[in-house]
Amino acid sequence: MILDYTAQTPKYAALFRTKLLMQSISLTKDQLQKMVAHVNLHTPMEACGLLAGLNSKVESVLEVTNQAQSAVRFVMDPIEQLKAFEWIETNGLELIGIFHSHPVGPETVSPADIAEASYAVVHVILTQVEDAWSARGFWIENGAFCEVRLQII
Ligand SMILES: [Zn+2]
Repeated sequence: MILDYTAQTPKYAALFRTKLLMQSISLTKDQLQKMVAHVNLHTPMEACGLLAGLNSKVESVLEVTNQAQSAVRFVMDPIEQLKAFEWIETNGLELIGIFHSHPVGPETVSPADIAEASYAVVHVILTQVEDAWSARGFWIENGAFCEVRLQII
């Protein structure tokens, strides 16, 4: 879960100029590796973070502590989340994605992910399949979801 700050703090609405479904986002191998290293470190707990970027291109991977310390859900630390929002705004970027891990599956969004999705961003789910991590992107809107291609550049 990620707190929706845009209602109380209108300036954060600028972080979400992209409201329409993104068909794909691009990220570098290093950015993917940074997400994998972060979630791997916290396994078997879920781990989470934010993807800042512009025009569907990830510019920065921001790790956030999972306050829930749970293997089946995440709650972003609200202070770290706000600090990350401030950083994104200061750097003229947008929040284009939220990533989190499913150390024990599923390899897709969970009912909780659908229920708790509060931002129009790509949700990247990292799942451990045997010893390797796989990443998939999803768009969640109005209780439904579809896959968003992750283009590794
Ligand atoms: Zn999830």
